[in-house]
Amino acid sequence: MTVTAPVPRLVDQFEQGLDAPICLTWELTYACNLSCVHCLSSSGKRDPRELSTQQCKDIIDELERMQVFYVNIGGGEPTVRSDFWELVDYATAHHVGVKFSTNGVRITPGVAAKLAASDYVDVQISLDGATAEVNDAVRGPGSFAMATRALQNLRDAGFSDAKISVVVTRHNVDQLDDFKELADRYGATLRITRLRPSGRGADVWDELHPTPAQQVQLYDWLVAHGERVLTGDSFFHLSGLGAPGALAGLNLCGAGRVVCLIDPVGDVYACPFAIHDKFLAGNVLSENGSGTEFQNVWQNSTLFRELREPQSAGACGSCGHYDSCRGGCMAAKFFTGLPLDGPDPECVQGYGEPALARDRDKPKSGVDHSRTGGRKASGPIPLTLLSAPPKKFCNESPV
Ligand code: SF4
Ligand code: SF4
Repeated sequence: MTVTAPVPRLVDQFEQGLDAPICLTWELTYACNLSCVHCLSSSGKRDPRELSTQQCKDIIDELERMQVFYVNIGGGEPTVRSDFWELVDYATAHHVGVKFSTNGVRITPGVAAKLAASDYVDVQISLDGATAEVNDAVRGPGSFAMATRALQNLRDAGFSDAKISVVVTRHNVDQLDDFKELADRYGATLRITRLRPSGRGADVWDELHPTPAQQVQLYDWLVAHGERVLTGDSFFHLSGLGAPGALAGLNLCGAGRVVCLIDPVGDVYACPFAIHDKFLAGNVLSENGSGTEFQNVWQNSTLFRELREPQSAGACGSCGHYDSCRGGCMAAKFFTGLPLDGPDPECVQGYGEPALARDRDKPKSGVDHSRTGGRKASGPIPLTLLSAPPKKFCNESPV
């Protein structure tokens, strides 16, 4: 009789890390025509050290060798890079599919037609309000019109199944049905994600993150609509609100295990929401200047090896929801100044709020390319709901 070894569960394989990331985000530039108040990478101005076209192609060659089947490209606004389409074409020609996030600024009818002709490119349009008033208060004047024009251009060109990506906030959680209708109108799929206190998001998190009552509202909506809405790993911290497995999506912090970020200068972080020295694993550029070594950073960096070790449940160990909630999001805890082995700041058992009420030091990322002269030292950025259309999207070139 042949005895076959048991096949490890997928989630166990994920916890120990994979030979290649399955959710690789690559921010091509810090330049952006907008200045969203919650930008996770504090983008705005281009960094003069950003990777050259050839260095980007070297990374794509590595991804092909590592059999990374697709990459999430973002920024900043990636389409403002003059070599953006060249890099997209290079990636798809080398068997690396591209999903890119954009505010829609460069999705003209001509570009939409080119995108519609490719089977290996997916487009994600960011929108944080189902109305211009709610969206533009967060993403800036004219950004709703720009995003919906891009969606219309994609639809007119026959691009099928674009994504609309929404960060859920206190001001748009009542619009979830409207977002779904908007997605249906453009033949798109809705993707909703969690507001993390990362980048400029740290400055507005207190006033924008959903209230406890809204978390319950969000959970109920996800359970009712989850099958047709993408969420990634965004909401597993809510899983304690119902039966285990009721929420779709990955219930695991994949940072450094299946998730990572390459930033515009080639620095590799454990997660796109963790741009801080503490989560910096290395840089893709070889020390001898001979090319790139992303594979080496992914497979051998000390930080990623540590993150793939079993993690302590800490104060969450005695919670009956730990198996599904896992203590929540590492980045959300870190940037709110909470212990990494304690409850999430939005813990559904209510342990986050007293922890947030205590004195705590909130770590600040040293990476800030904001065009407004840097993030505020403290206090929230005031949000204004607009009543008049803007005259210009941007008064200054971000590139
Ligand atoms: S730190 Fe948070 S956002 Fe990043 S991979 Fe972990 S759970 Fe996801
Ligand atoms: S105590 Fe920890 S494991 Fe339990 S719900 Fe809160 S964050 Fe999740």
